[in-house]
Amino acid sequence: MRVGIGYDSHRFDRARPLILGGTTIPGAPGLAGHSDADAIAHALTDALLGAAALGDIGRLFPDDEPEYANADSIHLLRLAYEWVVAAGWLLNQADITVIAEQPKLAPHVDRMRQRLAEALEVSPDAISIKAKTNEGMGFIGRGEGIAVIAVATLAAG
Ligand code: MG
Repeated sequence: MRVGIGYDSHRFDRARPLILGGTTIPGAPGLAGHSDADAIAHALTDALLGAAALGDIGRLFPDDEPEYANADSIHLLRLAYEWVVAAGWLLNQADITVIAEQPKLAPHVDRMRQRLAEALEVSPDAISIKAKTNEGMGFIGRGEGIAVIAVATLAAG
C-alpha cells in the first residue's frame, strides 16, 4: 500500500469558466492557469504521482508547453494514472478537500466524484470530495483564489 498527497491552488480569473473535478460550474468565476485550471484534478494527479513516487504534474505536463494550453485536466489525470498503473499500482481510494469561500460546491460534488471515478476506473464510492471555507482568512478568505488538498492510496496491481 502507498499513500500520496497533492496540493494545488489557482487564482480566480473571471474571464474563464470554472472547471473543478471535470465539471463546469455555471455562474462562478473561473480559475487562471495554463490548462483548464482544474485544481481538483491537479491535486489528485499529484497525489497519485506522489504515492507512486513518479514525480509531479509539472514535470509530466510542463506549463510552458503549448500542447497543454487549455488542456482538459481530466485527460492529464488519466494520462498520469496510466503511468501509475504501468508502475504496478492501482488506485484504492482518494479523499479531496477543496478550500474556497465561493462558490457553493455541494450541489456539484456527486457529479465531480462521478467524473473522477470514470477517469480512474473506480467506483464513485472510492472518491471523496469535501468543501470548506477558510473562515475569511488569507488569500482564500479574500476571495483571490482556491486551494485543494488530495490524498490517495494505491494498492499493488
Ligand atoms: Mg494547478
